[in-house]
Amino acid sequence: MRKTETNLIHMGEEHNQTKAVVTPIYQTSTYFADEDLDQYITAATTPKHPEFYHRHGNPTNSQVAAIVANLEKTEDALVLATGMAAISTAILAIVKAGDHIVAQNAHYSGATLFLKDFLSEYGVTVTHVDQTDNNAFAQAIQENTKLIYIETPSNPNLDITDLEYVGKLGKERGIITMVDNTFSSPINQIPAEFGVDVIVHSATKYLGGHSDLTAGIVCGSKEYITKVWRRSITLGASLSPFDSWLLLRGLKTLSLRVNQINANALALAKWLEQNSAIKKVAYTGLESHPQHALAAKQMKGHTGMLCIEVAGTDESQEFKNAQTILSNLKIFANAASLGGVESLVVHPASMWGAHHSSTQKKVSGITRGMLRISVGIEHIDDIIADWEQAISHI
Ligand SMILES: *Cc1c(COP(=O)(O)O)cnc(C)c1O
Repeated sequence: MRKTETNLIHMGEEHNQTKAVVTPIYQTSTYFADEDLDQYITAATTPKHPEFYHRHGNPTNSQVAAIVANLEKTEDALVLATGMAAISTAILAIVKAGDHIVAQNAHYSGATLFLKDFLSEYGVTVTHVDQTDNNAFAQAIQENTKLIYIETPSNPNLDITDLEYVGKLGKERGIITMVDNTFSSPINQIPAEFGVDVIVHSATKYLGGHSDLTAGIVCGSKEYITKVWRRSITLGASLSPFDSWLLLRGLKTLSLRVNQINANALALAKWLEQNSAIKKVAYTGLESHPQHALAAKQMKGHTGMLCIEVAGTDESQEFKNAQTILSNLKIFANAASLGGVESLVVHPASMWGAHHSSTQKKVSGITRGMLRISVGIEHIDDIIADWEQAISHI
C-alpha cells in the first residue's frame, strides 16, 4: 500500500479524465446531457455525480474527497463550502426533532452556536459535558441520544477527548460518534483508527493550508456520506470549482507543512514555557500538559496550535500585557483562522466576545490574558525572535 505522502499527490487521479497533469478547474455550473436520456437520468440521480450540475458534484470535488477519505481511513467523503457547512450538514443528516446530542463544553464557536441556539429551535436537545471526564459522556446519554459530537484538541484550550473511549461508547450504545479533526489534521490524528464514525474538517485550515479559501469536508461510511449528500443538495453549500482546485493544490504539501509546523510549535512552546512573562503554556506536546500521555497515545504530532496565558499582577494587567505583545508581534498577524503557512495569533476573549456570553466564556475556559497561537512554517529562529522582541515591550 502506498504511503500518505504519495497518496496526497496521486490519490483520486482517475477523476481527472483529461491529459492535463494537473487537474483542470471545471469552472462550469452544468454539464451536457448524454444523447441517451437513460444515462442522463442516472447522472441526475447518482449521489455526487461529477458531471450533472455543480450542486450535485464536480470532478475536482471528487478528487479532493478521494484524497481526504484515504487520509482519514473512511470509505467516503463529501466536500462542502465551509467547515460550518460540513458540521451543520453532517449533524442534520443524523438528528431530527425529538433527538438528543451529547457534546462538549468547549467547541469551535460556530459549532457552539449551532448546538446551543440553532438546534434548540428545531427541537433537538444537547447536553454539554467536560471532555476530559470520560464518565461524563456515558452519564449524559439518554434514550433519544443519536449523536456524540466531540472536538480534540479543542478550541482554544487544547483539552483532549479520549477518542478510543468515545468510539467504544458509541459502538456499545448504538450511537453515532463524530469528531471535528480540524486542529490535528489527519497527519497528526486519525480518529477512525479509534472507532469514531464520522470526521468533519474545516478544510479552510490545515488541509487548504494557505489561508486563501474556505472549505469543509465530512468523512464516513459510504451509506452515511450518501445521506449527507442528500441533505447537502437541499441545504446547498457546495464548494466552488476554483476553491476546490486550490484545496487540491494545498493538499499536495499537507504532510510537509504539518510536520514542519509540529516542529516549530514544539520549539516555540518550550521557549515560551521557560519565559517568565508567560504564566501558562497549553500545548499537547509539552509534558506539562495535564493530558500529555493521552495526547501522545492518540496523536502522531502535536499540531501548530498553542494557547498561552500572559503573566501579570492581576487580570487587568494580564490583559494589558497580552495587548502589548499582540500589538508588537510582527511575523504573527493578529487575525482569526489558523492552520496556514503563515503564523497567526488571536485574543480569544475579544474575538469571541460578541458571540459568547461571559458565562459561556468561563465554561469554555477563556481568560482575558489568553492568546491563541497558530504556528506557521517560517524559520523557527525568526519565530522565537519575534516573540522575544514583542515580550520585551511589556
Ligand atoms: C474554523 C473552524 C471551523 C469552521 O470552519 P469554517 O471553514 O470557518 O466554516 C470549525 N471547527 C474548527 C475547529 C475550526 O477551527
